[in-house]
Amino acid sequence: MRCSKCRRPAVLFQRYSGLHLCREHFLADFEAKAKRAIRENRWISPGDTIAVAFSGGKDSGALLLFLHSLLSLRRDVSLLAITVDEGIFGYRDTAVARARAAELDIPHVAASFREAYGTTVDGIVERKGGKLSCSYCGVLRRHLLNAVARNEGATKLALGFNLDDEAQTVLMNVLRGDTARLLRGAHPVPGMVPRIKPFSTIPEREVALYSYLYMGTVETGRCPYSHNAMRAEVRQMLNTYAWNHPSARFALVNLGRELGTLGAGACGVLQACPRCGEPCGATCRSCEILSEVLDGR
Ligand code: SF4
Repeated sequence: MRCSKCRRPAVLFQRYSGLHLCREHFLADFEAKAKRAIRENRWISPGDTIAVAFSGGKDSGALLLFLHSLLSLRRDVSLLAITVDEGIFGYRDTAVARARAAELDIPHVAASFREAYGTTVDGIVERKGGKLSCSYCGVLRRHLLNAVARNEGATKLALGFNLDDEAQTVLMNVLRGDTARLLRGAHPVPGMVPRIKPFSTIPEREVALYSYLYMGTVETGRCPYSHNAMRAEVRQMLNTYAWNHPSARFALVNLGRELGTLGAGACGVLQACPRCGEPCGATCRSCEILSEVLDGR
């Protein structure tokens, strides 16, 4: 197929726009969308230190690369990369992430569940079984990323979430009936480093293509516990539905944003957890999990 804009060979067909795009027009379209998201949400300001949650995988690798190319000439904004090792045998390799950050001359900080919590996801699964591995892992990783970013002086925490991730999150919250999360929105919370998601309007396959075109790799590694995630079921369901309804993911993300705006302030005030000091709601989910898995409660 030929590019709808210039007739060069196409590398992508966008079902939702009906366009075939060549390499150059795809990259221009991709970067324009990410820049628009940053501009519209006012996600980057002079003086910012942006910590990129960098697993070393395709989404966060593409994000690190994109932010580096966007900001490398700016003296008023700095970048750093944070890699969290959840302790999953054969899955996370912080040395790979460190080497990639070094190639871009970006400072890198590594943190691990073992050092921070005295346990690992493998240890939790051994003790509690695999069913809740992803819920525990997700809560503890968010908690640790926030603490490390704040301790490093970051003013923003950049996450490589793409459109598919965002749409899945909204649908998961609907399916769980989690009104509090649906209404939470993105309001400033003391102690919480504000999150930015420049790829949140870009489909996963386009992030993968961007990563492939720039880094020449396709991610093949998969966490051995990923089949336990509710997200895996929701992803499959949404992929099937979106095949016939290409705007479904955009509609879900818009719904999530609208509900977040409508619910501003309705989800209660966050406070500092008396045990770990991190911001939390009525109870600190991270401390609950750690009590459960370490104290055996
Ligand atoms: Fe953690 Fe689940 Fe992701 Fe594995 S798939 S890294 S256990 S959240």
